Amino acid sequence: MSIDIPQDALVVLIGPAGSGKSTFAREHFRSTEVVSSDACRALVADDENAQDATADAFALLHFIVRRRLRAGRLTVVDATNVKPQSRAVLLTIARRQRRPAVAVVLNLPEAVYRSRNGSRADRSVPADSVSFQRDLLVRSLPLLDKEGFAGVHVLDSEQTVAAASVRRTPGSELGSDPGQGPAIQTSLPLG
Ligand code: GDP
Ligand code: MG
Repeated sequence: MSIDIPQDALVVLIGPAGSGKSTFAREHFRSTEVVSSDACRALVADDENAQDATADAFALLHFIVRRRLRAGRLTVVDATNVKPQSRAVLLTIARRQRRPAVAVVLNLPEAVYRSRNGSRADRSVPADSVSFQRDLLVRSLPLLDKEGFAGVHVLDSEQTVAAASVRRTPGSELGSDPGQGPAIQTSLPLG
C-alpha cells in the first residue's frame, strides 16, 4: 500500500501499545517530524512511562504539533490515539492551521501486540490495558471516515505494514508560513 501524505500534513498514528507505531514512524519519517507522547512524558517528567504526567505531556505534544503545522511542517503524532477525543483535539489543531490530517491505523491481531509487548525491553505494558486499547480501536474504525481526516489508511496485517510505503505529495497553497492566525489560537484550552 502506498500512502499519500501532503507535505504539510498532520499524520495521526493510531494503534495500541505494541502495534508498531514508533517503529513505523522511525522507518518512514525523519526523527524531527515525529512527536511522541512517550518522548513528551520524558521531557516533562524524566520518565517515558510516567502515566501521572499524561496531562502535561499532551499539553506539550499539542503545543509542538500546533507550532509545526503553523509553519507547514509535516508532523507525525506517535501516541495510541485510540480514543475519539484524543483524535478530535488533533483534528481541531490541524483544521485551525488549515492543514490536512491523515490517519494511519495499525490494526493487528491482539496476539501480535501481546507477544511484542511481552518481549519489549523499554517497558512492560499490562495485557489488560492493551485489550482495552484494542477495543477502543476496533470501535473507532467505523468512525474514522467521518471524523475529518483527509485520508484514512488501515494496515491490518504484519505483511501490509511491512509492504507499506509513504509518498509525499505537494502541500496546500498556504506555503510554509500561513501567518500567525488570530491571537485566540494561543489562548484556547487545547493544551
Ligand atoms: P508502539 O508501542 O506502537 O510504539 O510499538 P513499537 O514500534 O515500539 O513496537 C513494539 C515492539 O514490536 C518492538 O519490540 C518492535 O521492535 C516490534 N515491532 C514493531 N513493528 C514491528 C514489525 O513490523 N514487525 C515485527 N516483527 N516487529 C515489530
Ligand atoms: Mg511507541
